[in-house]
Formats: sequence, C-alpha cells, structure tokens
Amino acid sequence: MPASPPAILALDFDGVLCDGMPEYFGAAWRAWRRLQPSVAPEPPNGLFDRFARVRPVVEGGWEMPLVIMALLSGASEKEILERWRPDALLGTLGRARDEIAAVLDGVRDEWIAADEADWLDHHRFYPGAIPRLRRLRGGPTRVVIVTTKEGRFARQLLMRQGLDLGVENVYGKEAARPKPVILRELSEADSAARGLWFVEDRLKTLDAVKSTSGLDDVGLFLAAWGYNTARDREAARRDGRVVLLSLERFVGDFEDWVKG
Ligand SMILES: [Mg+2]
Repeated sequence: MPASPPAILALDFDGVLCDGMPEYFGAAWRAWRRLQPSVAPEPPNGLFDRFARVRPVVEGGWEMPLVIMALLSGASEKEILERWRPDALLGTLGRARDEIAAVLDGVRDEWIAADEADWLDHHRFYPGAIPRLRRLRGGPTRVVIVTTKEGRFARQLLMRQGLDLGVENVYGKEAARPKPVILRELSEADSAARGLWFVEDRLKTLDAVKSTSGLDDVGLFLAAWGYNTARDREAARRDGRVVLLSLERFVGDFEDWVKG
C-alpha cells in the first residue's frame, strides 16, 4: 500500500468517527419498548454496560433492539459475542428485519423532533476526528462516509460540527447496498488509481471486503478504538492485509498509517 494520500478515504461512521453508545442504547431501548409495550419504562441496572460490551456484534441498527431482547432473556455476553443469530430472534419475535429497522428509525426521528439537543448530546466524536476531516477539506483526498445508519443521521451529526461532506459523499442505509458493493463503485470511480482506503471498526465487514473480487487493492484498516473485541484486534494484527490502526495514527498524517 503506497503511503501517498489515497484518492478516496472511505470511513465507517459509528465506532470510527463517532461514539454514539448512549444514543444506540437509548434508541434501542425505546424501540424495544415500542415492540414490547409491557416492559418497564426504565432499563434494568447494568443493562447499558452489558449492551456496550456486546455492541461489536451489531452490523445494522435493526439488530440493536434484538441485543436488548437477548440480554433480557438471559443470554450471556459470551454467547452473544460468539454466536450472534439475530434472524433467530426475529423468528421468535415474529417480526421482519425491515419492521424493526423502521421502528428504530421512527423512535430516533421522534427523539430528534422532541429534543434535538438531547439527541445530539448522546453522541461524541472521537478526539481529533473532526479536526482531521477539516484538514482534508479542499485537498486531494475525497472523504466518503459508508455507514449502515441512515445517511441523514450521520450528516446531521457532522453538520453540527460544521462539516458538510455533501449528500453525494454519505452512503447510508438508504443506499441499500452492502459496503463491499459501495466500495467497488467508489474504486471504479477512482480513475487516477491513486487508491481507496477504508477504515472500519467491524472485523467481519473487513473480511467481507477481502473476499469480494475486484477489491484487492483497497487499503483496509481496523479502527482499534471502535466497537471490536481484543480477539478482533489480535486477528487484525496477524492479518497480512488488514492494518490495525490506532486513533493516534488515524488523526495524524497518512504516511504514519502504514508505518510498521
Ligand atoms: Mg462501525
């Protein structure tokens, strides 16, 4: 991988730029209550911490209310981390994935409409991430967000930091294509072939990119500060293709990203 700046820097949002754990839990709890109105209004003590520890399994937001369902039903954290089967929970619940996703987006929209400042306050950008994006503005590298979240939510959070990447540079859930497919489109658009780098905090997503044809030249980085486990980071360290990236390097110059 050349150390020169990539033509395109594709970034996941949650767990790479933004830590929204209090929001994910708040939205997931509201969604779970909407799905199961008989549950108590307030989450039991300790549920937030348990939710946060198993968050690495989540690929799409629709899974988050199901994480709550699993934890409340007595599943251990180990079980969830090692054998996460959200589709089986959908079966138990008798709901479709899209229905859960719609409930989650719905409670999020209601939360924002009721108290946008409170919703924003449940997110925190990682130290140095926003200044790093600002420094890239107007430079040779195009910054693109590739997230499983609705793109409008990611844009709203960035706008609040004074960053408007443009709707064409935010690929969210509404793009309705898996991340490897979006990366392939982006890499095909890189006519100068200066390269595409992708930073993601979920190892399984990087594995999916690795096994997608046509993406052999994409630089892959696992965000060590995001939602992954010690085991994921160890696997990345041993991986010949994936670079385990620290937050300190991420917010610094590109040449430091690929230094040994
Ligand atoms: Mg992520």
